[in-house]
Amino acid sequence: SPVVGVLAVQGDVGAHARALTAAGALPRRVRRPEDLAGLSGLVLPGGESTTMDTLLRRYDLVDPLRQLLDDGTPVLGTCAGMVLLAERLLDGSPGQRTLGRLDVTVRRNAFGRQLDSFETDVTVTGLEDPFPAVFIRAPWVEGLGPRAVTLATVGDGRGGRRVVAVQQGSVLATSFHPELTADHRVHGLLVDLARG
Ligand code: GLN
Repeated sequence: SPVVGVLAVQGDVGAHARALTAAGALPRRVRRPEDLAGLSGLVLPGGESTTMDTLLRRYDLVDPLRQLLDDGTPVLGTCAGMVLLAERLLDGSPGQRTLGRLDVTVRRNAFGRQLDSFETDVTVTGLEDPFPAVFIRAPWVEGLGPRAVTLATVGDGRGGRRVVAVQQGSVLATSFHPELTADHRVHGLLVDLARG
């Protein structure tokens, strides 16, 4: 099985590890740069992107993570993990930085108070049946550059639609939390990429 890391400085680590196991990978928790050696893929979990940003810098993980992305290692970023990947961030905290390796503009906490957290079925490119998507203070993708493609959208409650899943080469990102349901097909997409 491919060894797939889960960034484990903060956030929703255990559920991702279980989902990866269910999807046929061997999960490894990543806390230090050395933990990245030999990975076939990596999950950047949900949590709090400002805290994760601070901890990544404290643990000297920013440059190794950028290198791993530049090397083309498959990565799945979920919720705060999507924020971490974005090249452009709206409504970030003062001084908040990102890894900047996904050609999108992401708005943090985008769905607003009424929709703080919700679950809805979304159609994801590459998955046959709708996916039960759990959103928790979720970001959305407000703009895509030419290198990124939309994988899924949801209604914004005001007649529009918002992008909630994207792909750029071997990088996947979702606004929602695919680790919180028994459906492991999004992790399966990552594991397929990790198998090469
Ligand atoms: N709102 C959080 C952030 O911006 C993300 C929430 C989550 O990951 N569930 O980091």
